[in-house]
Amino acid sequence: MIIDFIIVGSGIAGLRAAIALAAAGRVLVLTKADPGESNTGYAQGGIAAALGPGDSPALHAADTVRAGDGLCDEPAVHVLVTEGARYVRELVDWGTRFDRDANGELAFGREAAHSVRRVLHAGDATGREIGRVLWERASALGSVDTINHALVIDLIVEDGAVRGVTYVDRAGDRHEVRARAVLLATGGAGQLFRETTNPSVATGDGIALAYRAGARLADLEFVQFHPTALNKPGAPRFLISEALRGEGARLVNERGEAFMTRVHPGGDLAPRDVVARREAREMASTGAPVYLTLAHLDAAFVTTRFPTIAEMCRRVGLDLARDRIPVGPAAHYIMGGVDTDDWGRTSMPGLFAAGEAACTGVHGANRLASNSLLEGLVFGARAAAAMQEALAAAALKGDRVGAGGLGLGAGNAASKRDAQPPVPSPKSPEEVRDLMWRSVGLFRTREGLEHAVAALDAAGDSMLVTPARLVARAALRREESRGAHYREDFPQRDDGRWKKHFVDTR
Ligand SMILES: Cc1cc2nc3c(=O)[nH]c(=O)nc-3n(C[C@H](O)[C@H](O)[C@H](O)COP(=O)(O)OP(=O)(O)OC[C@H]3O[C@@H](n4cnc5c(N)ncnc54)[C@H](O)[C@@H]3O)c2cc1C
Repeated sequence: MIIDFIIVGSGIAGLRAAIALAAAGRVLVLTKADPGESNTGYAQGGIAAALGPGDSPALHAADTVRAGDGLCDEPAVHVLVTEGARYVRELVDWGTRFDRDANGELAFGREAAHSVRRVLHAGDATGREIGRVLWERASALGSVDTINHALVIDLIVEDGAVRGVTYVDRAGDRHEVRARAVLLATGGAGQLFRETTNPSVATGDGIALAYRAGARLADLEFVQFHPTALNKPGAPRFLISEALRGEGARLVNERGEAFMTRVHPGGDLAPRDVVARREAREMASTGAPVYLTLAHLDAAFVTTRFPTIAEMCRRVGLDLARDRIPVGPAAHYIMGGVDTDDWGRTSMPGLFAAGEAACTGVHGANRLASNSLLEGLVFGARAAAAMQEALAAAALKGDRVGAGGLGLGAGNAASKRDAQPPVPSPKSPEEVRDLMWRSVGLFRTREGLEHAVAALDAAGDSMLVTPARLVARAALRREESRGAHYREDFPQRDDGRWKKHFVDTR
């Protein structure tokens, strides 16, 4: 079979790219599990687009840049918010069933740090609905083939360009496929951490594949921790969407006090990292869980607006509309990834990246809620346009600096370690995740990060350890607090030294 384009991943970015490429040649979508098993399939709250009353792309851009805490790539944000509205309208035209109000107009939800109601939703299973539409459309195109349960383990590199991939099928057999261009749309990396909202496929494979091939990675220290994952012993850590707080749900401590109103003007809808850290401190100081409560809202509204979450709660013995729901922080989204320009081009000819696997710079140091589905949609389509052109690599953006030149980070840790006893390495994926949660999680310190880097250095290379080590090293390097990256030993933002992006290569 002659393939023109390979897409790794069947989430929103991969599928939108496949649809755009179908007219230009044969497309092969490889995905390592069932096609719907992706972060996209679990996305609840919705997709942001400047389509509602009182909204504009400029307002959406301003909110995005504010959330990004000084590190958004503003030209990329401009692309996101202006083209985003058009691509979301296209989703509606293709049959996506977003919720509508009593007049049949699109209904817009509210989420943290959005200055207006801007979030289109399909109940509380927006990603599943968008995935359904994209999957049906891509599957109907004769030039798109898909292979499920195909785990891509390597990129084929020749003369400095990416020429294809190696994958392992369900039976364990290895295959090589070559193509004119390869798109990494492998999604997130939440599974690098013990507590996460992400499904099991989100192991940061795109980061590992790109790194091993020699491509640049950027901003890996920025990992968003969501404050409201279910926190019930023995139950899965499923997400309780921020959209609930957008509709009036409150965060309370054991005594029923709304603790966020004491610490931030945004209250329960303060930025996610602020809420997550406050919550962790509240739990540590009281020794008791914190809860989300919707008991003051109309019960019928709660269960109609959030049927999936209500059902998930029911399965673990909780009534979403009446009970206090124990919640806690969990790794949710990675802002960094494979460094790309605004067309999904990476530093290697033949290799492209889009969606959560990529770092376009639109999220800066912290992602605005509901902007990631939008990013996958817009930059998936744009990467597809670039893949049809010549084999060109992206130029390094002006504000991104190579980490090697600074002599920072892992180098310092390594030299200090020479005189010390070896640090035991994690022996299993569970130990890697536990180490990442404890030392590279919500609260970071040099000591904890050096320990994590040393332990992960000693663990060799694997698809899980490589991205974990890169995240830990990036977090050690950045000696300030900004966005989702919080260093207890450097609690302030420091624009003088750190208002820049760092890129890492092998
Ligand atoms: C619980 C939850 C709720 C969320 N809610 C929202 C929301 O309301 N709004 C919003 O904007 N964002 C939300 N997000 C984030 C958003 O869902 C993701 O950022 C986005 O869907 C990522 O899309 P993607 O196409 O980049 O990757 P994904 O949708 O994660 O798809 C990645 C694909 O790559 C495949 N893959 C990975 N590695 C390999 C490999 N080695 N070989 C082959 N295939 C591979 C996976 O199997 C999968 O098919 C949420 C995330 C979670 C986890």
